[in-house]
Amino acid sequence: MTVDSGFQRALAFARDLVRIPSLPGEEREVADRVRQEMEALGYDEVWVDRAGNVIGILRGQGSAAPVMLSCHLDVVAAGDPVEWEHGPFSGDVAGGCLHGRGAMDIKGPLAVQTHAAARLAGRAPGDIIVAHTVLEERGGLGMAYLLESGDVTPAVVIIGEATAGDIAIGHRGRAEIEIHIHGVAAHASVPELARNALDVVPSVLTCVRELAVALQADVDPVLGCASVVATDVSARPESRNVIPDLATVVLDWRTLPGMTEADYVRRVEEVLAGGVPSLPDGCRIDVRFARERQRTYTGFEEERSLHTPGFLMQPEHPVVRAAVAALSARGTRPEVRPWRFATDGGYTCGTHGIPTIGFAPGEERLAHTNRERLELSSAEEVFEAYPGLILAVQEAVA
Ligand SMILES: [Zn+2]
Repeated sequence: MTVDSGFQRALAFARDLVRIPSLPGEEREVADRVRQEMEALGYDEVWVDRAGNVIGILRGQGSAAPVMLSCHLDVVAAGDPVEWEHGPFSGDVAGGCLHGRGAMDIKGPLAVQTHAAARLAGRAPGDIIVAHTVLEERGGLGMAYLLESGDVTPAVVIIGEATAGDIAIGHRGRAEIEIHIHGVAAHASVPELARNALDVVPSVLTCVRELAVALQADVDPVLGCASVVATDVSARPESRNVIPDLATVVLDWRTLPGMTEADYVRRVEEVLAGGVPSLPDGCRIDVRFARERQRTYTGFEEERSLHTPGFLMQPEHPVVRAAVAALSARGTRPEVRPWRFATDGGYTCGTHGIPTIGFAPGEERLAHTNRERLELSSAEEVFEAYPGLILAVQEAVA
């Protein structure tokens, strides 16, 4: 490892990125820095789209199918800096690791992908798209926008979320669902005039537990089973001397691929229909996806469902086999497995059907913690492996 090896330049870039905080919706400065780096590396085209995603293209020699590499620009909050051994925005390198928020999720891998792809400039048989997205940590508005815009049309995607050098082939999705229980409000001193929405909550929670048990019957051999759990109960109006006419139960559903938003809602409605005793006059229950209005740093706004799709690639898929072969040729033995967490791959593969795998350094269990770090030996191996991997998956979809 020499001082100005390709990997050392990628590491210097990663350290710069860690030093720029970039909470979801506040990615402007980090996006500028990424754009500048792509231009310096000789990318043929570099632009920032309306949502604030940064996209760089390395034109291929021929017309082979375009491959896209992708990480995200945002990171989760750092919490109390005192709790960190190395400052969250220090970009410290110590003990063979890069430390800080985003070191592995995902600025280190972003730097590795961006620099490793540039080594194939003018040499790949097709275009290489490198697209780093906004708001991944808030459900993936950036990737959803990028694919819907049609600005890029990748035939295969490699996501840079931590895999510790393994090949990731999917993950469960996440759906946030609200059960709204409508009653009739009244002053707390005259309960006979009210239909208290909170009275219905216990039977709703019982139904949710029944649904959770039912989901265990459906086991995917790779992803395991879906899970659902109630994570919040709230009442409106909030006044403590008013009987509420609205109680809301929030569900966090970790989903298996293959169901639509309407399917989830129907499944909840069915279990409630079977388990909630008949409601008094003037009361009703409705089930819907939680929605949120989101705004990117460029001012682009969208109201969207809080739903990140899941996806699963079969281990025998030609892209997965080609990826394993490319890494095995380097003497490593990558495991083929799912991620525990959700990624932008839910949009590329789950929604758009584009073959997608994950490959990156870093341990998933350190994501979002105050011990976040990236082991440099693993990052360097991944950096060296990336060009061969890109060419292999590009050929596999030809
Ligand atoms: Zn991430």
